[in-house]
Amino acid sequence: MIKAKKSLGQNFLIDKNIIEKIINSAAIKDKIILEIGPGTGNLTEYILKKNPKKILVIEKDSNLTVDLKNKFNKKITIINEDVLKINETSLFKEKVTVFGNLPYNISTEILSKWIINLKDNFWFDCLVLMFQKEVAERIIAEFNTSNYGRLSIISNWKLNIKKICDIKPESFYPKPKVDSSLLCFYPKKNFVKINDANNLEKVTRIFFNQRRKMLKKPFNQLFNGNQKILNKLRIDLNLRPQNLSLDTYYKLTCEYENLRS
Ligand code: SAM
Repeated sequence: MIKAKKSLGQNFLIDKNIIEKIINSAAIKDKIILEIGPGTGNLTEYILKKNPKKILVIEKDSNLTVDLKNKFNKKITIINEDVLKINETSLFKEKVTVFGNLPYNISTEILSKWIINLKDNFWFDCLVLMFQKEVAERIIAEFNTSNYGRLSIISNWKLNIKKICDIKPESFYPKPKVDSSLLCFYPKKNFVKINDANNLEKVTRIFFNQRRKMLKKPFNQLFNGNQKILNKLRIDLNLRPQNLSLDTYYKLTCEYENLRS
């Protein structure tokens, strides 16, 4: 069995049921597929069986890239690179489906690259990504729950998110220390128009800076107690940051931008 590199987060999927769940969570036939971190090609092999139009994989480990070339020959296109350094929007002329059993140590950077900084000309139809379970729970958390926060608000702005399943450590070799969850992200047709994603980051950062405190302080810091905004968005300053809906945060960010325009 291959020696896994911890530094590259190499935990290879060995559970065929889970591999099937992953590939059945998005359309593959006749689609262009981008796979991030194919590793030994466990998932790649199953994707190929579903007749995609093309598969392009990005793998950072040069040794694995050589093995992948030997295993798949010309059936896939291999890029031996760090996915964080690639401009994926320039790779394709049509929308792609992305599969990624990502190393956990780059999952937040991937989120920032693909989700927080996502431009409106969506380059994918669907992202099928694996996360550490705790991170996935924060991404999909609903308001009024303790997991709800900046990650949920920012991730759900332009994307609909669906959880497919949880995955136990036993499904991988070597076994990771944590449970995982598989999420699918789909571009939304309609979303609140915020001009600059940095403003959504700023508004949520200030509100969730002290998540147990009431809304009064962060609201005053950003909006100087503006009563009109409070009435318009029906915000009760005695509530806490987790009690405001996703939509309220998007609209608050628009109001923040309006005040500065
Ligand atoms: N997809 C395979 C599977 O499910 O068995 C392997 C998954 S393993 C969790 C993560 C893979 O991502 C490894 O093959 C690793 O070498 C690769 N990888 C790690 N960091 C990467 C990066 N920055 N860019 C591209 N690939 C990376």
